[in-house]
Amino acid sequence: MLIVMKKDATQVEIDQVSQSVIDQGFEAHPMPGAQCTAICVLKNKGAVDANMFSNLPGVREVIRVTKPYKLASIETHPGPTVVEIRGEKIGGNNFTVMAGPCSVETEESMFRNADKLAGMGVKFFRAGAYKPRTGPYSFQGLGEEGLRILEKVRDRTGMGIVTEVMDVETLPLVAGSADILQVGTRNMSNTSLLKQLGKINKPVLLKRGMSASLEELLLAAEYILSGGNHNVMLCERGIRTFSNHSRNTLDVAAVPALRALTHLPIIVDPSHGVGIRDKVLPMARAGIAAGADGLMIEVHPNPADALSDGPQSLPFAPFSELMNQVGQIASVIGRTSGSSVQSI
Ligand code: PEP
Ligand code: MN
Repeated sequence: MLIVMKKDATQVEIDQVSQSVIDQGFEAHPMPGAQCTAICVLKNKGAVDANMFSNLPGVREVIRVTKPYKLASIETHPGPTVVEIRGEKIGGNNFTVMAGPCSVETEESMFRNADKLAGMGVKFFRAGAYKPRTGPYSFQGLGEEGLRILEKVRDRTGMGIVTEVMDVETLPLVAGSADILQVGTRNMSNTSLLKQLGKINKPVLLKRGMSASLEELLLAAEYILSGGNHNVMLCERGIRTFSNHSRNTLDVAAVPALRALTHLPIIVDPSHGVGIRDKVLPMARAGIAAGADGLMIEVHPNPADALSDGPQSLPFAPFSELMNQVGQIASVIGRTSGSSVQSI
């Protein structure tokens, strides 16, 4: 349930309504908005009687939220959430590209990659210092050393850093270096991690579990939101299907489907979505055309040498072409590309 306060409701009235929600044994989650404050009622077991709150001073209306996720639902937040990081806006009318290698590798290779991407107008550099590899014998990432390299990339280029956090133990360390904390597909249901992410004030890019429904994805987001962290972005990165012509099946239809359910920004990752280099560009085009707020693309100066995900990584020239094409599509559908497209 959502209690919408009047535009001119006082802080005292907001506090009184919150208190009466708590007195009924529920949790009150006030959400200040541009127009007015709304108070989300959480932790109720069944339907709550609206009359308990609708006549309290300062209340405009009481709305039933029909979905099991509340704070992630479009019902509680009709306008889009815009996440602002280092002066860049993600969501709303903006279009954002995050690009970089799968893993942090040598400093030299990261600098070479990052310099080029920054020159192409990319505002966020992605690379994993901690890698959730399918098998234990594969490269597991550089760990703390990787985080130090990412900090140097940010200092050098001004790009924001997107990097994966794999567990609660390393969260303080990774959060100290990242601008956006990525939760990978294998951790979407790691509720201990999600709860901790709710307690920190750092944007989170939550990837869809490889066999998760949209409702499960939104409930995972709800864990973070209900902890008090409102800077959550969702990422479609492909799901498991019977198809074997690609690594995963990029669920492009998830973009408009999510748009109808949530106000959170939606990023599409065609690199993991298809896993095959020459399919990344068409699916990047599809993602932006479907209404995504941004793309996450794996780029490597020399994909044959990449320590992970080389087969799906783009070298610079095809990535530059991708930037060009998605930039054009973005402008056709009225989106402002935060990244100015420049040739390499
Ligand atoms: C990645 O971004 O490199 C990654 C491991 O992604 P996912 O969790 O989607 O597999
Ligand atoms: Mn990868």
